[in-house]
Amino acid sequence: MYDYLIVGAGLFGSVFAYEATKKGKKCLVIDKRNHIGGNVYNEKKEGINVHKYGAHIFHTNNEQIWNYVNGFVEFNRYTHSPVANYKGEIYNLPFNMNTFNKLWGVVTPKEAKEKIEEQKGRVGINNPTNLEEQAISLVGTDIYEKLIKGYTEKQWGRSAKDLPAFIIKRLPVRFTYDNNYFNDKYQGIPIGGYNVIIEKMLEKSDVRLEVDYFDKKEEFEGIAHKTVYTGMIDQYYDYIYGVLEYRSLKFETNVVEDTDNFQGNTIVNYTDRDTPYTRIIEHKHFEYGTQEKTIISKEYPIEWKKCNEPYYPINNQQNNETYRKYKELADGEQNVIFGGRLANYNYYDMHQVIGAALVAIEKEFGDK
Ligand code: FAD
Ligand code: UDP
Repeated sequence: MYDYLIVGAGLFGSVFAYEATKKGKKCLVIDKRNHIGGNVYNEKKEGINVHKYGAHIFHTNNEQIWNYVNGFVEFNRYTHSPVANYKGEIYNLPFNMNTFNKLWGVVTPKEAKEKIEEQKGRVGINNPTNLEEQAISLVGTDIYEKLIKGYTEKQWGRSAKDLPAFIIKRLPVRFTYDNNYFNDKYQGIPIGGYNVIIEKMLEKSDVRLEVDYFDKKEEFEGIAHKTVYTGMIDQYYDYIYGVLEYRSLKFETNVVEDTDNFQGNTIVNYTDRDTPYTRIIEHKHFEYGTQEKTIISKEYPIEWKKCNEPYYPINNQQNNETYRKYKELADGEQNVIFGGRLANYNYYDMHQVIGAALVAIEKEFGDK
């Protein structure tokens, strides 16, 4: 008999397992995939840590969480600075003075702000209610047309007018010549990859892979006093209130034999509508790799169906309302803790998932 059955060996499940085993609890962690780590998993190929489920850069403003992850592994000094390729023109991201200079020839922040105000004024948006309006009011129409509209509509498979404004607020807009994608105080990539962290977190738990909870629900029901569930919340309740929508991805990964440096950067975003992928990841650059070969992944957004991976929750009004109904059920459960990106139907970053798992632990154990 276990104290906790933890469904999902991603970050939420792993932090919970680590903290619970530290308190002497017995945990069984299961995952339907053939590896631990969930979406932060790295697959080693040609000596390179491949970010199998998409590029993962750790960043946070929270000192406690930064210290927490550094307790498991040392981080390198990687600073994320993706570039955008719009039909062969290269622009710096996030939107900053380098972007504005390349696009308009403006040199000072004052000139850049005037240009944005002029474009905003022409469209006349006061209270942005969707991603398109939000983007135009932040950076004007030129950037919206070249660097946002095509990328966003590929990424989400719907018009930017039908997407929530908060998605674009993830990106900083800066009036300095600073290409750092994040404003956070701490940032880096774990030396040796994310698996180092997860392996340490799960050291004291029993782990069973390639097991789908729903295939063996009855067997698992009696195996532990409590369940920590990090899968899709609608699936847990057999979709009684309907299906929560996601956006999925397909990664086409190739070893490039004839060069050790394919694109000179970890990420290049393809922001035009016609290129079918949104970005190319060149994995070695996360860790300043000096291997002779290089590995790239093209990231294609695809429609989500129940048979493929749920990557991004689509937090529009309808889905959020459906989620609220599931959450009401979840709140009434005595012996099940719901956590992580899928169970909370939330566009969480890693530091937020770790924070949420630590809150769940605090709630569970208090001062015990
Ligand atoms: P997951 O990692 O999804 O883990 C859930 C686990 O549960 C999975 O392994 C799944 O197989 C398992 N599972 C589900 N259902 C079942 C079942 N029925 N039975 C058994 N097992 C089950 N965050 C950042 O901070 N920085 C980034 O740069 C960043 N980049 C990202 C890029 C992409 C493309 C994506 C999709 C996310 C990115 N994130 C990033 C977010 C980050 O991946 C998540 O915050 C984090 O991995 C979520 O952890 P989790 O444990 O909630 O979920
Ligand atoms: N985005 C964009 N152009 C870019 C990069 C991002 O329009 O070159 C928009 C897009 O809508 C995306 C959102 O900004 O979904 C958030 O970008 P982020 O890089 O944070 O996305 P993630 O890494 O989570 O996929």
